Amino acid sequence: MKHQTIPRQRPNTLTSPVWAVNAGPAPRADVLSGTHETDVLVIGGGIAGMTTALHLAEKGVDVLLVEAQQFGDGATGQSGGIVAPDYIRHTPETIQPVLGEDAGDRLTAMIGGSGRHVFDLIHRHGIECDARQDGFYTPAHTDALAAQQQDYARQWSSRGHKVSFIDAAHARRFFGAERYCGALRFEEGGGLNPLAFVRGLARAAQRNGARLHAGSPVTRLERKDGYWLCRTPIGTVRAQRLVLAANGGNAALHPAMRRTSLPLHVFQFASMPLDAAQRQTILPRGGAFTDKVPYLFTARLDGLGHLISAFPMSFMVNGDAGYYREARRRLKQHFGVMPEPEIDYLWRGLAWVNTSFLPEIYDLGDQAIAIQACNGRGIATNTVIGSEVATMLATGDRDALSVRPRAPQPVRFHAGAALLPRLLMSLAYLTN
Ligand SMILES: Cc1cc2nc3c(=O)[nH]c(=O)nc-3n(C[C@H](O)[C@H](O)[C@H](O)COP(=O)(O)OP(=O)(O)OC[C@H]3O[C@@H](n4cnc5c(N)ncnc54)[C@H](O)[C@@H]3O)c2cc1C
Repeated sequence: MKHQTIPRQRPNTLTSPVWAVNAGPAPRADVLSGTHETDVLVIGGGIAGMTTALHLAEKGVDVLLVEAQQFGDGATGQSGGIVAPDYIRHTPETIQPVLGEDAGDRLTAMIGGSGRHVFDLIHRHGIECDARQDGFYTPAHTDALAAQQQDYARQWSSRGHKVSFIDAAHARRFFGAERYCGALRFEEGGGLNPLAFVRGLARAAQRNGARLHAGSPVTRLERKDGYWLCRTPIGTVRAQRLVLAANGGNAALHPAMRRTSLPLHVFQFASMPLDAAQRQTILPRGGAFTDKVPYLFTARLDGLGHLISAFPMSFMVNGDAGYYREARRRLKQHFGVMPEPEIDYLWRGLAWVNTSFLPEIYDLGDQAIAIQACNGRGIATNTVIGSEVATMLATGDRDALSVRPRAPQPVRFHAGAALLPRLLMSLAYLTN
């Protein structure tokens, strides 16, 4: 009798992120209940909060972290997991007139070293998170940009960073995509499973004595009698010092954080695992890339062979069927060996951007600081910032920070500006 192959059902509505498939179980963490005291309270269990808690605990500081949902359920677990030790808008030279020479060089050293920092941390704590330090690339779509990138490579490498330029022929061979004219290569970048990463950080923090609570949204935060008093549905914490690491959620926790960042909605997706021929052509040497067109394209492989990519939300693509169509269109547009791409996972993520496109640490006074370093590019930078914030809190030395803390600045005309990312992405879509 002839066997019939039953076609595999592909999803046609939004799914959970692909990362849960091989992230391992979530660490055990109780809901906060009853009354607690701590030296440092960290709010938010993404990469920023978790690395802060881990490094504080390692330094012997009493720390308690509360997370509204499960660790990594915010932007961290929605992300593409690309470890990108690069600026978003700047280069080592263009940052200098913005921040001043010393502060600019300090930030460049931090960002340029952030890939190494992430993979060293993973190694030190034995975190299993499909970590692959196989390079991060920023391909150029025009000859003019490729020419500029040769200079950017000089700017990075003259400061000791392992950054080089690859020409068009190499770019085509390395990516399996025809449209690029060259690329910057950041040797110390790569990719990881972000959910597994944050869960591993959480376990390491717990081993070192940090008290972590999931399912514990902060519903009220106030300054009382020289302490921070934090309430969750069934618990209370009294803390001497406070770190807000709730990303967009910081705005609801402290009045000075209102209107300081703008929402950027992104659809992230994973193709069905590539077949052998596709694997030989698409990213055959591994690595991850994010190009420089306004409607940006990004690609990497995970350990299961899924091709992970993304597209920003615009007004032009709507409805679940439309999102899947757009994901397939993007893959076909870039990879000739994927004439009929299939999508196994497609999920919505929310990144928060500020107007500087630089990582920010805000000094809120009263022994409180806030980390706002998402900008859709926080996997590497937030990992470093968490460790630097912990050092600063443990030692009192503000020089531990590569980002100079400042007072939060509300974005002007915030209500209108909040629509700007989606509007700009709609224009970018039309020129894509
Ligand atoms: C779709 C998408 C793709 C991305 N891809 C990449 C990428 O490939 N590479 C890269 O470098 N960056 C990427 N980013 C950005 C990166 O994910 C973020 O910069 C980074 O994860 C932010 O970490 P975080 O800890 O600051 O915030 P989050 O991970 O958002 O963590 C904040 C946490 O605070 C919690 N919280 C909020 N309010 C409260 C409250 N009241 N009480 C308690 N807890 C609260 C939230 O539940 C959340 O878990 C992407 C972002 C998105 C959305």
